[in-house]
Amino acid sequence: MSEPLVIPCPHCNGLNRLPAERLGDNPKCGRCKQDVLLDAPFELTAASYASQIKGDLPLLVDIWADWCGPCKSFAPTFEQAARQLTGRCRLAKLDSEANRNLAGQLAIRSIPSLLLFRNGREISRQAGAFPLQSLLEWLRSQGV
Ligand SMILES: [Zn+2]
Repeated sequence: MSEPLVIPCPHCNGLNRLPAERLGDNPKCGRCKQDVLLDAPFELTAASYASQIKGDLPLLVDIWADWCGPCKSFAPTFEQAARQLTGRCRLAKLDSEANRNLAGQLAIRSIPSLLLFRNGREISRQAGAFPLQSLLEWLRSQGV
């Protein structure tokens, strides 16, 4: 038996402990009974940030704004990545306008910016949009 993985629920921020072999079975949250693993990006806010960066599955955050053209054209690529990485990496979007203080704390100088977290800390970041293949290669190089 492998050690269970700690994974925050994207809906209620509850921490779930799931055996790795169950990740493919569409596991439900112990607290709110909704899906723990999504095949689409979920919305991250200043309120959920501290809970969501925790856990053993990496969290990739796309920091964007409504006025940012490159952010908008990158959105479909990010959604495609979410579908391909279900169960391996969690993907979330942070609106830098609605969460200015947090974006400031994270020292975001340009958008889109991609930040990768695991176990509560940032392990890598990239600025700018990139094609799906390069995105996946970068994540692979980070052990995702
Ligand atoms: Zn939940």
